[in-house]
Amino acid sequence: MKFLADGMLGKLARWLRMLGQDVLYNTRLGDNELLGLAKAEGRVLLTRDFELYRRAIGRGLECFYVDGKQESDQLSGVAKRYGLELEIDMDKSHCPLCNTKLESAQKEQLKDKLEPNTYRYYDRFWRCPNCGQVYWQGAHWKQISNTLTQAQENKR
Ligand SMILES: [Zn+2]
Repeated sequence: MKFLADGMLGKLARWLRMLGQDVLYNTRLGDNELLGLAKAEGRVLLTRDFELYRRAIGRGLECFYVDGKQESDQLSGVAKRYGLELEIDMDKSHCPLCNTKLESAQKEQLKDKLEPNTYRYYDRFWRCPNCGQVYWQGAHWKQISNTLTQAQENKR
């Protein structure tokens, strides 16, 4: 399954990418371009714009109207509708910034890119082969798992 997120759903797009989904997101695309792209690439259109939602449904496209202001509400809504697991496996994650599938990286090769403490305390790293961004499950990971736990509870 592949997704296309409208310009208001950048955060949701990044979450879904971390969950391993292929999500296109580009704030420069207008409504007509979004509809055309969803059709051409067979992508599920995610939108917070009810008018766009109606147009998509009218054209027979798969479209999900994203409700809820909280990230966890939006996530649980999409996960419930499309049967997605709300668990992050970094070996399956796509880069939140550019949607390329991440690759696990050797710690030793990242020494120049990391803060000394990060290098000292963490052992598993992933790198985006497209944009070069490096990821690890650091101090911020607690917040990420809290949001996912909340979303899992909502999903029930
Ligand atoms: Zn990237």
